[in-house]
Amino acid sequence: MDFNLTEEHLMIRDAARDFAQTELLPGVIERDEKQVFPDELVKKMGELGFLGIMVDPKYGGSGMDTISYVLIMEELSKIDASASVIVSVNNSLVCYGIEKYGNEEQKQKYLTKLATGEYLGAFCLSEPEAGSDATSQRTTAIDMGDHYLLNGTKNWITNGGRSDVYLVIAQTDREKGHRGINAFIVEKGMPGFDIGPKEDKLGIRGSDTHTLQFNDVKVPKENRIGEDGFGFKFAMKTLSGGRIGIASQALGIASGAYELALKYSKERKAFGTEICNHQAIAFKLADMATEIEAARLLVMRSAYDKDQGNNYDMSSAMAKLYASKVAMEQTVEAVQIHGGNGFVKEYHVERLMRDAKITQIYEGTSEIQKIVISRGVLRD
Ligand SMILES: Cc1cc2nc3c(=O)[nH]c(=O)nc-3n(C[C@H](O)[C@H](O)[C@H](O)COP(=O)(O)OP(=O)(O)OC[C@H]3O[C@@H](n4cnc5c(N)ncnc54)[C@H](O)[C@@H]3O)c2cc1C
Repeated sequence: MDFNLTEEHLMIRDAARDFAQTELLPGVIERDEKQVFPDELVKKMGELGFLGIMVDPKYGGSGMDTISYVLIMEELSKIDASASVIVSVNNSLVCYGIEKYGNEEQKQKYLTKLATGEYLGAFCLSEPEAGSDATSQRTTAIDMGDHYLLNGTKNWITNGGRSDVYLVIAQTDREKGHRGINAFIVEKGMPGFDIGPKEDKLGIRGSDTHTLQFNDVKVPKENRIGEDGFGFKFAMKTLSGGRIGIASQALGIASGAYELALKYSKERKAFGTEICNHQAIAFKLADMATEIEAARLLVMRSAYDKDQGNNYDMSSAMAKLYASKVAMEQTVEAVQIHGGNGFVKEYHVERLMRDAKITQIYEGTSEIQKIVISRGVLRD
């Protein structure tokens, strides 16, 4: 067992750290306040290879491993979790979904553009009546011979207004239950595909979240991913890897808040000394450092499992469950260490605290992660 990062991993982490400090940090408060999607920054992240981190270079990707992915995600998330969720969805849901389960034509047509950042992608599973219970899909895709007719509503879709390619999960045969669900590649601009207004959110306000409407959208047969009825498995398998991305986002939010709190505690004086010299504050820092390191080990373990070809359903659920809890709890502590300054925007920790909450909700709530973990535990 080797806990050291390789030279290459260290270089990748430093490159992401440098990008986050020089490019993401300026303007992050304003983007959050005004809900501005970082178009230019997304373009730059594409040029750096951050939008197709694990994709095979033959499809335009960076050909890196999952460890590299989580290192990049942690560094971006320390500064701007809105930017990192764009990266996470494009990489672990859209690119991975097409690379792993799509056919060669789909890879040539879509993946090559998604991996370079020419296209952006969205993953569309959630519906007004089907969130945690993803088997209750109301969106239908009826087989019409040479195409499918898509009808329904998807909500909460990240990159919803900005994407070119949408992976849409829909029910083809209701009698077959979840075995009658399919996944489709839908392009922006297909007739009958409408994008609703942007959500006004508590956190990750720079990300782009929309409801999508499909009214008699004709989706070509060749845009179905995998065999007929593969859609639910496709969604579950893809989300399993997605959880590694969100776990590393949570880790980054927590460690970003911790670094700010540590620095502040060494500068701010109260009762004649820096506040870090008060044991109550020093113990908070000790708890933060310990829990963040534990979260990092779980995140790395799940990335390792994926890279080794091990099953990572359990380890990714554990990583997401724990890292998101640490992110929520420790960003609250970071605000506390900042006192009144923690409550205003310019010190960044209030934003990180608001951003932390979503990591306990999307790509499976914490309750759903516990269902996944307990099933695994009881099966063993
Ligand atoms: C900002 C944002 C971005 C998102 N991005 C995307 C995206 O890109 N694509 C996408 O498809 N979806 C996306 N989502 C949707 C997200 O994945 C869902 O919100 C989430 O899965 C929860 O579903 P729900 O909101 O319907 O809550 P519900 O399923 O209604 O759950 C409500 C509460 O009940 C609990 N609960 C439900 N079932 C059980 C159970 N069996 N046991 C115990 N507790 C249970 C939940 O944990 C939760 O606490 C996003 C959501 C947000 C807010």
